[in-house]
Amino acid sequence: MDQEKVIILGSGPAGLTAALYTARAFLDPLVIAGDRIGGQISLTSEVENYPGFPEGLTGPELVEKFKAHAERFGARLEPDLVTEVDFTSGPPFTVKTHSKTYQAWSVIITTGASPKRLGVPGEDEYIGRGVSYCGTCDGFFFRDKDVVVVGGGDSALEESIFLTKFASRVRIIHRRDEFRAGAILQKRAMKNDKISFIWNTVVEEIIGDPVVTGVKVRNVETGETDLLATDGVFIFIGHYPNTALFEGQLEMDAADYLITDENMQTSVPGVFAAGEIQDAHWRQIATSVGQGSAAAMACTRWLEANEEEHGALLAAGG
Ligand code: NAP
Repeated sequence: MDQEKVIILGSGPAGLTAALYTARAFLDPLVIAGDRIGGQISLTSEVENYPGFPEGLTGPELVEKFKAHAERFGARLEPDLVTEVDFTSGPPFTVKTHSKTYQAWSVIITTGASPKRLGVPGEDEYIGRGVSYCGTCDGFFFRDKDVVVVGGGDSALEESIFLTKFASRVRIIHRRDEFRAGAILQKRAMKNDKISFIWNTVVEEIIGDPVVTGVKVRNVETGETDLLATDGVFIFIGHYPNTALFEGQLEMDAADYLITDENMQTSVPGVFAAGEIQDAHWRQIATSVGQGSAAAMACTRWLEANEEEHGALLAAGG
């Protein structure tokens, strides 16, 4: 069985930053990178709010830079998927992937969160071509354009208000006749001249060619259908953290996000977490990078502090 000092699960900004930091600490990290290196940003058409790149760059370009930076110091990336972990009888912990079983003295979990999808025809097809799950990332590309927002929670209203900086019109499509969002955001949205509301309505299909041109909607009370012409569809119906693998082994909050302490450590000593797997609130590349570096430093210190106990394996591992 392969033995590792540190295994990083996930290859988004938090994971690749943790890889860079642990590589520079000579921990020879192994990154189980998943099926899409870079995670959510690999789907982002353009990144303009990551410091150091005033001209902006595409999501895949930034991923390539993160990856090259980590690899320059020796991080190893395996394009594999984790199928099972055992954090109950360690350290060393067991990490199984599709192709191998590893033992690791420490693990940094950065498997992120995924925006919930509507699951309607056209949604997958037009991601990055009019369908977006991030106003902060993509709003700028809808200057003087018409967009619809789907959802009725805080995210939908907050992002709608943000989108009015760019878009000429923002229509919020909500499946009920009242919002889940808090009163202050509702008040702000109602006061905004660019925002209007389509109640009791669901999106049934997103259409376009080759970019989004409209949405087919249905009023859930009357059953009436309509075709709304629009340039963009922003979907904010919640996120889910990718924590299913850790159920019953690590403490989670009511929304299934991993609970970490000030050292980014989970409820199991030696298992750390960073990025959107433990942060439901900020969800930025810059914040995930910060959390990834903190988790890597805490992990390095934890391994050093436990070196005597783990010495034999540390010497043998990696
Ligand atoms: P959320 O509160 O779960 O709201 C999701 C919204 O999407 C709900 O209105 C829901 O409708 C709707 N929805 C869910 N599935 C849908 C579907 N299949 N089709 C159509 N609509 C669907 O999610 P969120 O807005 O992302 O917020 C998540 C958490 O972060 C919340 O605790 C929120 O308070 C917090 N947050 C806070 C702030 C802030 O304080 N400024 C900003 C953003 C987020 P129903 O209402 O009918 O269920």
